[in-house]
Amino acid sequence: MNDDETVTCSYCGTQAPAAEALSWTTAVERGRQQRFCVTCSRENLRAMEGKLDSEWW
Ligand SMILES: [Zn+2]
Repeated sequence: MNDDETVTCSYCGTQAPAAEALSWTTAVERGRQQRFCVTCSRENLRAMEGKLDSEWW
């Protein structure tokens, strides 16, 4: 991961520097890495726990 990298939330589109996004949730769906910001991770935590695959949205 580059320090200069900008990470985009796969759910709401929020962008943050990679260093800040270390606390984000990472998920791999269908071979693609998805990143979710802290807010979305928290809001979707139950759904993600219930459906760890790609159908929760
Ligand atoms: Zn988000």
